[in-house]
Amino acid sequence: MTPPTTPSWKLPAALAAALGAGAVLGWLAGGHVATGVALVAMAEVVLLLTRIRHQAQAMMTAPTAASPLQHDRFMTRSRRIASSLRDLRNAAGQLPDAVVLLDRQQQIRWFNHAAENLLGLRRPGDRGASLQQRLAGSELARWLRDGAREQLTDATAPGRADSQLNVSLLPFGDQEQLLLAHDISHLNRLEQVRRDFVANVSHELRTPLTVIHGYLELLDPEDVPELAPVLGEMRTQSKRMGQIVEDLLTLSRLETQHEVIDERVPMAALLATVRKEAEALSQGRHRVSLESTAEADLLGSPKDLHSALSNLASNAVRYTPAGGSITIRWQREPEGAVYSVSDTGFGIPASHLARLTERFYRVSSSRSRESGGTGLGLSIVKHVLNLHQAQLKIESAPGVGSTFSCHFGAARLLTPGSGDET
Ligand code: ADP
Repeated sequence: MTPPTTPSWKLPAALAAALGAGAVLGWLAGGHVATGVALVAMAEVVLLLTRIRHQAQAMMTAPTAASPLQHDRFMTRSRRIASSLRDLRNAAGQLPDAVVLLDRQQQIRWFNHAAENLLGLRRPGDRGASLQQRLAGSELARWLRDGAREQLTDATAPGRADSQLNVSLLPFGDQEQLLLAHDISHLNRLEQVRRDFVANVSHELRTPLTVIHGYLELLDPEDVPELAPVLGEMRTQSKRMGQIVEDLLTLSRLETQHEVIDERVPMAALLATVRKEAEALSQGRHRVSLESTAEADLLGSPKDLHSALSNLASNAVRYTPAGGSITIRWQREPEGAVYSVSDTGFGIPASHLARLTERFYRVSSSRSRESGGTGLGLSIVKHVLNLHQAQLKIESAPGVGSTFSCHFGAARLLTPGSGDET
């Protein structure tokens, strides 16, 4: 039997190339270079361990068949693999993300320095301990107990109360698992700075804009007929800026809010108001109809729900040419109830749908501005729905029309006229 004679540089080169590929894949999958490298490094550790195991087995099962030359080759290869293994472990040990190798009982087999820091694990005592028991009482332990099916986001780090983590559990090898925890505290801090900045700027702009708008209202175009068109334009623009500032302040409030104060929102009255507002905006240019069969009220913030539901109806009016029709619906569905607005308007190409709820994202800027849009309406809708654990779904076809639907869970529904949940 002749052992395979792989040139000595090939294995380290292949391992390094795989690490490089992992970095590139991680970067492509959203900039997670360290995570990509960690995953490939772990896969390589498992691969090398398997190789060593196979070769050792071969040596042990046929000790007499190996010649001294074969034995030497085997020893050289084993030393090379062991050295690569050490390098990989050292590299994984220095990763900024916490990495924990778990066996099939979720007992800790190995962890890196970041895991000591972020998860509070200690060596050598925690080797062999159950991770769930070791982190008992933390959000992470509850997530592990519940099966860790999806990524855990924004969890407090068990080892450092001022840090937040995104954690994933990845299966590998023979029912073993790899726990990866990425520290997102700096991203959260940057996000907070951005939020504060937008809220402060909007707040500071509010007073001067109110003053300018007030003076513009005082000026009568009939007193200065030659400036009448200029005055008209100034009034329109100052009103638009005022609306943008108000929408930004609303968004800042919604973003910092984690829950709403629950009140009964009588849907019959709210739907009638939304319809009336849509008709007022349309000024007879569209057919506006209402189909309400759900016979359920909502539990939530009356002001925010009004803002979200009427926003969808006003968009339908603004993006539907004269002569089109708009249908507002409130219906039951198996998991709760759905509020939807369908129109026969311009529609939206599929490539835009995923980004519509981003701030200032517009399919057509000129059409949005002409119709008095701020580009913030759907962002507000999304945040209001998140606060009510509801989901926004959008179906649209260019030239045919759109349907925007808000899906509310059964826990948010009340029987009209009673104090009970349905
Ligand atoms: P805007 O103030 O610009 O309307 P929104 O956040 O409400 O901002 O909407 C974002 C973009 O989504 C709009 O600019 C428009 O391009 C598109 N859009 C929203 N609703 C509709 C609709 N019913 N039909 C077609 N396009 C729509």
